[in-house]
Amino acid sequence: MLPFALRKFFFYAYKKGIVKMFGCIFCQIAEGQKPAKLLYQDDLCIVFQDINPKAPVHFLVVPREHIASLNEGGSNNAPLYGHLLAVGARVAKEQGIDRTGFRTVINTNAEAGQTVFHLHLHILGGRILRWPPG
Ligand code: AMP
Ligand code: ZN
Repeated sequence: MLPFALRKFFFYAYKKGIVKMFGCIFCQIAEGQKPAKLLYQDDLCIVFQDINPKAPVHFLVVPREHIASLNEGGSNNAPLYGHLLAVGARVAKEQGIDRTGFRTVINTNAEAGQTVFHLHLHILGGRILRWPPG
């Protein structure tokens, strides 16, 4: 039998997710422990400017719940996914890129370019975006 402290550790790790325990940057931003240029927040998600923007307007829509990627989410998350899209469109309008156009991107895993393993939507606009992406 494992000692109590070790069992507690594994239970906490199971509940919270190992990544979150050891510092997921987007969880820390959502919990107000790390700074970000906030554009919007509600009970389910937070929206902030990307620290390394790839377009004149580039912000991230991030669920408060730690879901590592679309691979980890399931059909039970469908209402949340819909909310993230609706919030992204709302903030895109507030940022003035709804008429000219904007791109919505979710990178999943390394070959698609995912570097932060907490699900997020990128919204990019304010310049001509070429297709297909690199
Ligand atoms: P991805 O590569 O799709 O996982 O996207 C991660 C995005 O998060 C990149 O565009 C980064 O520039 C952005 N990013 C990383 N750390 C921060 C941060 N502390 N604040 C805002 N954006 C960040
Ligand atoms: Zn997280």
